[in-house]
Amino acid sequence: MEKTKCLIIGAGPAGYTAAIYASRADLKPVLYQGMEPGGQLTTTTEVDNFPGYPEGIDGPKMMEDLQKQAERFGADIRWGVVTELDTTEPPFKAKIDDGTELLAETVIIATGATAKYLGLESETKFKGGGVSACATCDGFFYKGKDVAVVGGGDTAAEEATYLANLCRKVYLIHRRDELRASKAMQNKVFNTHNIEVLWNHEVKEIVGTEHGFTKALNGVILVNNKTGEEKKIDIEGFFVAIGHKPNTEIFVGKLDMDETGYLKTKPDSTATNVPGVFAAGDVQDKYFRQAITAAGTGCMAAIEAERFLS
Ligand code: NDP
Repeated sequence: MEKTKCLIIGAGPAGYTAAIYASRADLKPVLYQGMEPGGQLTTTTEVDNFPGYPEGIDGPKMMEDLQKQAERFGADIRWGVVTELDTTEPPFKAKIDDGTELLAETVIIATGATAKYLGLESETKFKGGGVSACATCDGFFYKGKDVAVVGGGDTAAEEATYLANLCRKVYLIHRRDELRASKAMQNKVFNTHNIEVLWNHEVKEIVGTEHGFTKALNGVILVNNKTGEEKKIDIEGFFVAIGHKPNTEIFVGKLDMDETGYLKTKPDSTATNVPGVFAAGDVQDKYFRQAITAAGTGCMAAIEAERFLS
């Protein structure tokens, strides 16, 4: 059976950064890219907040560059999805969807998280053209404009207050008559003059114009779920903040997770509860969720894997 010193699962900023560091440390890492090579950044257009790109960079281009950088040092980057990982004891046995089996002395899990969307056809149509799941990434494009955020949790409250600093007006659309967000975040929302909360509203349709590949969102149609009344609000940006789902299904019962499925890591470390298995990026971070923080923990995981082996 094939053996490796370091298996990396996932190909976002965390996985590729781990691959860069692990290959430079001569661990000859094998990285499986999973279902979405490049991760969540491939669903955004411009990345303007990653240090080192004064003019910004396309999300997919940045991921391509990170892959090339890892390959330059010998990382073995492969198509394929890890379907099983035995964490009982090292070396850890991994099964890949093409039938390959692999024994890994260390494993770095960087499978990320997936933003939840409402599931409307019009939402899919305007993704990257007005619909976003990350205000920190895309809010800048809506400076001085009117936008909406859907959701009632801490993320929605945080995104709304972040956008309120940039935008003219922010509608916070919530399906109930009270927010799930913490009291402190609720207070922030209620005390921000340019946020209007639309209680008991659900999104029926996202509307806009389409000219070839160019899409421009210009509003959403809402339904009041108490009265049945429909109305359109005019906005240019629509931010979905109804939660994320960490991609940890295959680790259930094998690694410690919190109640929402995020992998638990030790303080100031990427170590999971299983020695030799590390977690980096959004799969263990529901708070920051940035490319730069994911890359940072990817670096930490590779250094910790190297130290574990020596
Ligand atoms: P949550 O699961 O807490 O909230 C999701 C929100 O989206 C809820 O208000 C929910 O409505 C709404 N929602 C879910 N599905 C739909 C749907 N299909 N249509 C319309 N609305 C929908 O997710 P968050 O991402 O906000 O937070 C995740 C975790 O991370 C929480 O534990 C949170 O506290 C934490 N967090 C903490 C932060 C901080 O401390 N600063 C910042 C961000 C997150 P309903 O309320 O009706 O169920």
